[in-house]
Amino acid sequence: TETEKNDPIGSAKQILAKVWGFDEFRPLQEEAVVDVVQGRDSVVVLPTGGGKSLCYQVPALVREGMAVVVSPLISLMKDQVDGLVSNGVSAALVNSTQSDEQKRETAARIRRGEIDLLYLAPERLLTNRTLDFLTTVPISFFAIDEAHCVSNWGHDFRPEYRGLRILKQRFPSASVHAFTATASQRVRDDIAEQLDLVSPSVLVGNFDRPNLTYRMIRRDNALRQIMSVIDQHRDESGVVYCITRKEVEQTAAALSAEGISALPYHAGLDDATRQQNQDAFIREQVNVIVATVAFGMGIDKSNVRFVIHAGMPKSIEHYQQESGRAGRDGLASQCVLLYSGGDLMTWKRILELGDPSNVEEAMQNVRAMADLCTGVQCRHASIVNYFGQEFDADNCNACDVCLGELNLVDDPLTLSQKILSCVIRLKERYGVSYTVKVLTGSRDAKILESRHDQLSTYGLLGEHSVAAVRTWIDQLISQGFLERYGEYNVLRMTDSGRELLQRKGTVTLTQPAKSSGGRSARSSA
Ligand code: ADP
Repeated sequence: TETEKNDPIGSAKQILAKVWGFDEFRPLQEEAVVDVVQGRDSVVVLPTGGGKSLCYQVPALVREGMAVVVSPLISLMKDQVDGLVSNGVSAALVNSTQSDEQKRETAARIRRGEIDLLYLAPERLLTNRTLDFLTTVPISFFAIDEAHCVSNWGHDFRPEYRGLRILKQRFPSASVHAFTATASQRVRDDIAEQLDLVSPSVLVGNFDRPNLTYRMIRRDNALRQIMSVIDQHRDESGVVYCITRKEVEQTAAALSAEGISALPYHAGLDDATRQQNQDAFIREQVNVIVATVAFGMGIDKSNVRFVIHAGMPKSIEHYQQESGRAGRDGLASQCVLLYSGGDLMTWKRILELGDPSNVEEAMQNVRAMADLCTGVQCRHASIVNYFGQEFDADNCNACDVCLGELNLVDDPLTLSQKILSCVIRLKERYGVSYTVKVLTGSRDAKILESRHDQLSTYGLLGEHSVAAVRTWIDQLISQGFLERYGEYNVLRMTDSGRELLQRKGTVTLTQPAKSSGGRSARSSA
C-alpha cells in the first residue's frame, strides 16, 4: 500500500512490537527489512545469533501475499513455525513427514489466502507440482535461508539449492532474499549470481568478536599445550575441538587422566550418550567437552571461557563459528588454535572420502585457514577481512600478533631473500618440501640426481631445522610473496615477491613453535 512505500520501517516496527514485543530492530536488521518490504533483491550476511529470521518474518506480515521461506533443515523449520504460530503468526510448513490429509489442508488454507509464511525445503519447492501450485498464489517474496549452500565455494554446498535459480523466472514479480551466517566476498558474489538476483542490495553484519583473544600456535606437544590453556581456566567451561573421532576419544581420555573433568562428543557415539554428555556440559556437571565439529549446532551456552582447536578446522567459516562459541556473554574468553602442516593432508584425506568433485574448492578453504594460522597479521583483522569487512584498530590487543607474543625473526628480509632466490634457482618448478630440502642441504637422492646440490642456494639455511624453514615458506605464502601453483602446487614468485628480492616492501617472519601461556583475554586481568 501507499503508506508502506512511504514509510517501510514504520509499519514494520509496529509489527515488531505487537507480535514479538521488541522495541527496536538491530542496526542491520532495519536495512534488511526495508529491502524486503520494498521488494529489492538482497544478500544478507549476519553472524549466527544476529537475528536473520526477523529480517524476513516481519516483512512477511507487512507485505501483501504469501512469503515462502526456503530452509534445508526440517527440525529448524519446525521450531521456527511453532514459534511463529505461538506468537499468533499464520505460518505453515509442508514436509515429507506429513500425511496427505495435512498437506491438502495446508494447500486449501494457502488458496484462501490465510497463510503469511510458508516454509519449504528446496527439493519440495522445486517439484513441478509445488511450483505450478505456487504460481497460482500471490507470492510476495522468497527468503532463502542458509544461502551459502547454493555456492560450491562455500563450505556446505547442496546441489538442490542450485535449482533455486528458476525462482526469478517463474515468479518475476516476487523478490528473492538470501540469508547466511557465513560468506566470504567470493561466496557472496556467487550467491547473487547463482540465484540470478537483480542488482541486489548486499548487507554484511559485524563479524568481529572483540571479547575473544585469538592465538594460533604451531602444535608440538598437543596435550601439554591444551593443558596449559585449561590450567588458566580451572573450574570454567570450555570446548576442545579435534578433527577426528579417534582424536576426540584419545584427548578426552588423556584429559581425564590429568584430572580434568572432560567428556567426548562426536557423531559416532550413540544418541543417548551424546545427549547425556551435552547435557552434562550445559548443566555444568562437566567442565570440558572434547568434540568434533558435530558439536555446537544450536547449543546456546553463554559462559564458555575457552575454545581450543587441537587441529586446524577446515575453513575460516568453521573457525569463526566454532571459536565463536566462546564468550557469548560478552566476557573475555580465549581461543587457542594448535596447527601443524600435517593438518592440511589430514583434511585432504578426509575430503577425498567425500564427493570428489568438491575436493579442489574445499581444499582452497582449508588453505585459506592454513594461511590464517601461519599469518602474522592481527587475527581479528584477518578474520573480519575474510568476511569482507574492514578492521579499524591498528592493534586489537587481543591476539597473539598484537600482544607481541610471536617470536619474531631478527632480519626477516635477508632470510626471505635466501628463500625466494632458491625458488628462482629451482626455476619455480618444485613444491614446498623439495625447496625446504634444498635450502637445508638434504642429501636426498632426487636432489643429488638433479644436481641441485650444485645450486648457490643449496644448504643456505643449513643451520635451521626443516620445520623452521617450512614455517617461513608458509609465512611467505600467506603474506603473498610466494604462491602455490598448478596441479602439483609448485612454488612460484608473485610480483610482491620479486619486489621483496630487490629489498622493496616489508616482511615479518616468526620463529616456529613457541607455546601459549602468557596473558589471557583483555579484561581478565
Ligand atoms: P540467526 O538466525 O541470525 O542466528 P535468530 O533469528 O535466531 O538469529 O535470532 C537470534 C536471537 O535474537 C533470537 O532469540 C531473536 O528472538 C533475537 N532477536 C532478533 N532480533 C531482535 C531484536 N530486534 N530485538 C531483540 N531480540 C532480537
